[in-house]
Amino acid sequence: MNQKQIRNFVIIAHIDHGKSTLADRFLELTGTITKKEMREQFLDMMDLERERGVTIKMQPVRMVYRPQALNSDSEFILNLIDTPGHVDFSYEVSRSLAAVEGAILLVDATQGIQAQTLANLELAGEQNLVIIPAVNKIDLPQARIRETKKELADLLKISEEEVFEVSAKKGTNVENLLQAVVKKVPCPSGEKNKPFRALIFDSKYDAYKGVIAYIRVVDGEIEKNQEIFLMATNSHGVAKELGYFSPKLVAQEKLSAGEIGYIATGIKEPERVKVGDTIIISNLKSQISNLKIAPLQGYKEPKQVVFASLYPQDPDDFDLLKKALEELKLNDASLTFEIESKEALGRGFRCGFLGMFHTEIITERLKREFNLDLIVSRPMVVYKIINNKDKEFLINSPSDWPDPQVIKEVQEPWVNLRVIVPTRFLGPVSELLKTLQAKYINTSYLSPDKVSLVYEVPLREIIIDFYDKLKSVTKGYGSVDFEIIGFRPGDLVKLDILIAGKKQEALSKIVPRNQIFREGDLITKRLKKILPRQQFSVPIQAAVAGKIIARQTLGSRGKNVIAGLYGGDYTRKRKRLEKQKKGKKKLARRGELKIPSKVFLEMLKK
Ligand code: GDP
Ligand code: MG
Repeated sequence: MNQKQIRNFVIIAHIDHGKSTLADRFLELTGTITKKEMREQFLDMMDLERERGVTIKMQPVRMVYRPQALNSDSEFILNLIDTPGHVDFSYEVSRSLAAVEGAILLVDATQGIQAQTLANLELAGEQNLVIIPAVNKIDLPQARIRETKKELADLLKISEEEVFEVSAKKGTNVENLLQAVVKKVPCPSGEKNKPFRALIFDSKYDAYKGVIAYIRVVDGEIEKNQEIFLMATNSHGVAKELGYFSPKLVAQEKLSAGEIGYIATGIKEPERVKVGDTIIISNLKSQISNLKIAPLQGYKEPKQVVFASLYPQDPDDFDLLKKALEELKLNDASLTFEIESKEALGRGFRCGFLGMFHTEIITERLKREFNLDLIVSRPMVVYKIINNKDKEFLINSPSDWPDPQVIKEVQEPWVNLRVIVPTRFLGPVSELLKTLQAKYINTSYLSPDKVSLVYEVPLREIIIDFYDKLKSVTKGYGSVDFEIIGFRPGDLVKLDILIAGKKQEALSKIVPRNQIFREGDLITKRLKKILPRQQFSVPIQAAVAGKIIARQTLGSRGKNVIAGLYGGDYTRKRKRLEKQKKGKKKLARRGELKIPSKVFLEMLKK
């Protein structure tokens, strides 16, 4: 295939603006998928994606297109990568952007520009991609086509005529858009005669073929059965099979500069095939410096910002959970996990995620694909501790929190938060932001009735339910995007919980100092509700640095020892009551309080 006939592109948009649906039309139009095989959002292949209507994994597909209107009988190879729109998956998006030359920027005409429209556009700008703007859903009666075109034109500093109007659902103008891809997106620039280099932008594990690397060939050519070398991980493999995506894998004899495809590497250890690494051909390894084979620019490693514990409801499922996490990791390298065992809870895992939506998707997949009933703890962000010896370390679980005496400074991750809302919701949104420990940065108008607000805020403030609150105060019109900007000092402390005087590590929590009383009160009251009563009364306390700051008392189960004694003999009654009291004290002293693990699990829940 002549490199000049290749076009590599992505569709970027805010979630739900119609990327996957537009991809469907392209698949049909090019005959890649027949009408009969077609199902909606064809490229969303996971069950969970289909049910929730969201794209989680990027999906590449190669299409052959003969544009009739371009009065040529030449064929074009169009490689499209469908991408997820949600912030938590922007790592997936940035990877696919590095493998292509152009992007269709799609905006839903009923919504206009939203937060991820801007975020993804910025990512595309960093890769110098050619942008082809289009407004979608023009078939809907409530579509605000003119306004949305104007918003987009203003944003990109182009004229409104350059913005396409399409309906991905009905197919209106979709062919014009595809022709624009052929005309405007440049062909890939690599050189066929240079030594082979390819960028790994994704991977998949296959029990038979080993790790399958999804690649963009930058220079040169590779043939089936050639030995390969992965530069960053220093690993050797063999191109047992190679080919392109249709979107299923279609084997070929070779891949050349500019193409997007896959190589089944034969490598069995997933960690050896790193996204962002460069593949070359083994026999060129000794000549790396002579031939000036430079590794391609890779990707930033994704950073886990949110941690949560996962415990199986049924302790016997621990091994199954371990296997399931290992398997998911092959499909989603951004997930991390390590065994955590807390006396009270049994065995589980402390897992790292890219955000709340990622947490939700992973736990959902564990339930669905592995039939696991899980307890998921309230998520926590990563904290940085600087101790009195000026040593820094990261902490992702309250139980690792050091003694307050050795802490010199606590730092927490902050984000740059962008909220986009119609101006009519400006009031309630500002009110909402005031409840956070947020620092206002600026306001800009995307149009007379749409505004973008930028704040800096601790990540901790937005991970639990900020998005839901925003949606509810904006009737669903508000959208949000954020980017981690680094660690900043925070006044945070560890809140300990004591039951019958004994510290319960599994219940401790990191909280801002100015919220300790409220949190302590909340937790002790909740515990009082769910702890089973004992024969003696049980103090439930919250403490910070050894100082009690909240207390509840769980009353005793109270066997009525004087029930049989009626009449006026008061001394006998008192004697019995006193005896009971002594017994209870003894029990309490002996610490015979057994807290069922169910209580802890209940407290872990959000
Ligand atoms: P994605 O999240 O950007 O991939 O969006 P999807 O392709 O999954 O589409 C989100 C929703 O919008 C789905 O319910 C689609 O059927 C619907 N949709 C997409 N394009 C159009 C369109 O042109 N017109 C209408 N009426 N609905 C559309
Ligand atoms: Mg999609």
